[in-house]
Amino acid sequence: MHSESMQHITHSDIIRFFEDIPEAPIQPVLWPDFSVYGLQVQIKREDLLHPYISGNKWRKLKYVMADAVAKNKTHLVSFGGAYSNHLLALAFAANKLHLQSSACVRGEVVQNPVLDFCKQHRMHLHFISRTEYRNKQAAYESLFAPHIDTYFIDEGGRGELAVKGCEEIMSDISGYTHYVCAAGTGTTLAGIARSAKRNQAIAEGICVLKGAQAMNDEVNEWAGYEVLMHHDFHRGGYAKTDNELLAFVAEFYQKNNIRLDEVYTAKAMMAICELAKQNYYPKGSNILFVHTGGVSLLTNPLSAVD
Ligand SMILES: *Cc1c(COP(=O)(O)O)cnc(C)c1O
Repeated sequence: MHSESMQHITHSDIIRFFEDIPEAPIQPVLWPDFSVYGLQVQIKREDLLHPYISGNKWRKLKYVMADAVAKNKTHLVSFGGAYSNHLLALAFAANKLHLQSSACVRGEVVQNPVLDFCKQHRMHLHFISRTEYRNKQAAYESLFAPHIDTYFIDEGGRGELAVKGCEEIMSDISGYTHYVCAAGTGTTLAGIARSAKRNQAIAEGICVLKGAQAMNDEVNEWAGYEVLMHHDFHRGGYAKTDNELLAFVAEFYQKNNIRLDEVYTAKAMMAICELAKQNYYPKGSNILFVHTGGVSLLTNPLSAVD
């Protein structure tokens, strides 16, 4: 497709598109351990921003896509696994904004509801080997050269512009002692850490990847100070599940009518419970947990626990 044939989209169109969403509500979390240990825990329902797009992926794309358009790029290229919440969000947003999108998907050719959704939203999929996937910039260069129209977006949308978008999650919030979220790349965590600093709150990330200590440096650099990251709550590694985790998701749903996803938010919420039991949080702490999403029926069909 030629850019001439596309509707001309401006930087401010993109900003307006991403801002045209309802405010995510904040609700109290009901969980016995929290009252036992004298804690108040509230949850910011970023998962409700959109039925298909994972809450923080929406936040992460705003300034990235605006930057692409400001640079006259009409074709967005990114990376992810076959169940990537990020690719899903990118396909949807790019399609809505009349931009082209392509994805390099890690591993062998597969079909699933997420990739079907991406294709239905006109995203072009390139399946690349795990070896090629390791060097994303090289894969991008070889697939999209001379890439006059294309714009590189890193895996998970990570990066400074995405941090800026995530800073807006907490921009109108105050009165909490702790902000807690799940961390994959740590982009979301860095964003909320910036807001936390302004409000004298403590930001904490629960890392869902095993042995991801290397992310600390990058998060600290994005945030501008040393951010607390917990590395002991990944429960065996990325996307690994176990019966205790699944039982927690079911019980949490029963008590709060809120679905958590097994990959990110359930592990993070379980970590808060565990830390509470260890008397980690001072009595009277007022914790705000960010529900970063991941519970779209597309990405998480098994979590329909009712
Ligand atoms: C992608 C994702 C995360 C991780 O966000 P990062 O900014 O990469 O740390 C957390 N929760 C959910 C539900 C996600 O989809």
